[in-house]
Amino acid sequence: MARLIYHSTRGVGQAVTAAEAILAGIAADGGLYVPENIPLLTTPLRELAQLDYRELAVRVLQLFLTDFTEEELRQAVAVAYNSRFDTPEIAPVVEHCGARFLELFHGPTLAFKDMALALLPYLQKMAARKTGLDKEVVILTATSGDTGKAALEAFAGVEGTKIIVFFPEQGVSPVQKQQMVTQAGNNTSVIGIEGNFDDAQSSVKQLLTNKKLIDAMEEKGMIFSSANSINIGRLIPQIVYYWHAYLRAMEDGGVRAGEPLDFAVPTGNFGNILAGYYAKKMGLPVGALICASNENKVLSDFFASGVYDKEREFYLTSSPSMDILISSNLERLLWQVCGKSSVLVTGLMQQLNTLGRYQISEAMKKNLTDFVGGHATEEETFQAIRRVQETAGYLLDPHTAVAYSVWEKYRQKTGSKTPVVVVSTASPYKFTKDVMQAVNPKYADGEDFALFAEMEKMTGVPVPAVVRGLESRPVLHKRVCKKAEIQLVVENILGL
Ligand SMILES: *Cc1c(COP(=O)(O)O)cnc(C)c1O
Repeated sequence: MARLIYHSTRGVGQAVTAAEAILAGIAADGGLYVPENIPLLTTPLRELAQLDYRELAVRVLQLFLTDFTEEELRQAVAVAYNSRFDTPEIAPVVEHCGARFLELFHGPTLAFKDMALALLPYLQKMAARKTGLDKEVVILTATSGDTGKAALEAFAGVEGTKIIVFFPEQGVSPVQKQQMVTQAGNNTSVIGIEGNFDDAQSSVKQLLTNKKLIDAMEEKGMIFSSANSINIGRLIPQIVYYWHAYLRAMEDGGVRAGEPLDFAVPTGNFGNILAGYYAKKMGLPVGALICASNENKVLSDFFASGVYDKEREFYLTSSPSMDILISSNLERLLWQVCGKSSVLVTGLMQQLNTLGRYQISEAMKKNLTDFVGGHATEEETFQAIRRVQETAGYLLDPHTAVAYSVWEKYRQKTGSKTPVVVVSTASPYKFTKDVMQAVNPKYADGEDFALFAEMEKMTGVPVPAVVRGLESRPVLHKRVCKKAEIQLVVENILGL
């Protein structure tokens, strides 16, 4: 198989192997690693439909991670997608209210971040062996709520690694927060910040490329890496479930092999939906990629106008994992649609940095027709939760409800008859109060944990084992810092 290499979107420095890109997390020039070409998966769909999730994952991964052997990938996939998922299907597809829902929340932390993070430590371990790295890997993570816990779960207790997570103290759900601050493992640190996800992500990206800090780490035998979707090792495993969803829809008669299937994706940092775009470029018959935003609708405005403008009010919503104004992975899409010009991408990112906005050319805009942007207000999100619950007895989490609502509006507006998969990114049990309140205002005075039992009664879906009794677990991480103190905190933890 031809060797696939990775470039930085900002183009300074050497191309690297997949293993090197996965270990680095981000390129030294501040850009993101992208595969030089997106490989085609040419196996007939009917043949792929015979594979289970793990076998399919190996087929997809081996096209991108060409410096890993098939045997290595098989091993990594077998330990990642095991009984830590509460169903052997790993990612079930269910049909309700005219849509299919791809449930990506059956992993150990009840959010889609598990799909990639369950695998990442094994990929990193193998990557370290390949590159002859004998340093401790420090995973620096900014989270809007779900990445933090998924990364902690994945890296806690993993030899040769430390993990440090920064989350917005006021910007995550009570269940998300409790999941993180009760995390055991003496290689874990969890810190609340007085700021939002964008503050955390920007600081972390700066630290990851801070030469002085990197040199100080080097002396102590440590290197930084990232568990955020800026790491290409996060992105590639996410491609698998788009193929998986298509194949399951084919099997249940929802789509005929080769015909288009739309995907509606609740979007924040643009990592999930970008994986869908990569799947399409690999040859999967994807129709529209419906990029759904909450009230922080910087992306839906971008797809409508070609202007990305982060200088706007920031809202805390019931879908906190999408409360983001700087969508990092859009940089990878820009690279793809501007003719892979690192000069152009660097220019746009500089404008974003200095002016808070940029506008793309008409030519670039023409290459974005795979995407449809849309947004849902809080009211529309709650209505979607209530409607689906009343019609089908199926409970959506607020993120999934944003996507469902945006798809409904898209269908009404265009009259589209193309079947759709709504990518379901979290279990409603992570957002108990908002979800229950959406169904019935009488729950407005309830508390998240107290409402677990009510939710169980309403849905017949048992409270997931991983959050049962969560409220009474000891809080092990109490630290809170200002965004300007993030570097100090990191130095302190690492003894620099
Ligand atoms: C992270 C997350 C999203 C947003 O995904 P991106 O890849 O950042 O666009 C949506 N929903 C949930 C529940 C998430 O955890």
